[in-house]
Amino acid sequence: MAAQALWREFEYHIRIAFRHLQMLHVSAIILCIVPGVFVVHLPAFAQSAFLFAVLALASLPVLSLLGNLKAMAQLALSAFSGRRYRTERYTSEEVDVTAHKVGLKKVPKVFLTENPQIFSPFTLTFTRTVYVPQNWHAKFPSPREFMPILGHEFSHVKSKWKNRLEVFAAFALVLVLAVILALQTVMLVAQIFEVLFAIYMVSAVSWRNEFRADRKSADALGPEGLISVFEQLKAESGSEEGSYTHPPLEDRINRLMKLLDTGKGKCPPGGGRA
Ligand SMILES: [Zn+2]
Repeated sequence: MAAQALWREFEYHIRIAFRHLQMLHVSAIILCIVPGVFVVHLPAFAQSAFLFAVLALASLPVLSLLGNLKAMAQLALSAFSGRRYRTERYTSEEVDVTAHKVGLKKVPKVFLTENPQIFSPFTLTFTRTVYVPQNWHAKFPSPREFMPILGHEFSHVKSKWKNRLEVFAAFALVLVLAVILALQTVMLVAQIFEVLFAIYMVSAVSWRNEFRADRKSADALGPEGLISVFEQLKAESGSEEGSYTHPPLEDRINRLMKLLDTGKGKCPPGGGRA
């Protein structure tokens, strides 16, 4: 059963990977492994041509990461810029109830912030702090939508150790495979593979973490609120392809819809399903 679920997850990521720019990424990874193993037997000219092809293919998907890195750098810089944005603590009885429903005994701190570098809710699991942009709260003021958003963020706190363990396992797998490949081919191919595969695995683990938080929020509060939030975000953004860290909204909606169909996402008394 577990193997089947794991296979489904794997197949899912492969499918998604080929749908986006990551298709190039996966091609480069495959190019490292399959022809890369034979590259040592090729004449020098063919070796150089092969390395050039792998590098070219590998650099394109890495470029798509730059957008993420830029956003992170801007956020980090804004912390040191001295400019203080209004940040206020958000508390309510519903927040406490939501935290307890996702299985947290201690309620994480929730802040609403006006910092324009924070454009979607995020959680620092080390400090158990959730930041939500003011405009998100303005957009989703009803507890029927706002609490499932917090439920998702609280779930990141709840499953932080699971996520850290998965990140660790992913890096261990990357390292082992890279070492095996290094013994079979030229060093550069193994190194390119290592970097690309690590980037890919971090993305896969992050997506998995997001799906899990959606699921936990839906289990605690019903899937309806999150579906409605994601539908609205999708409508606003037009074509939404997901990001390095977050799966496409459509996939998240589809998974939540399945819970709706099966009735697996539990519904809070008096709330949610009409
Ligand atoms: Zn999340």
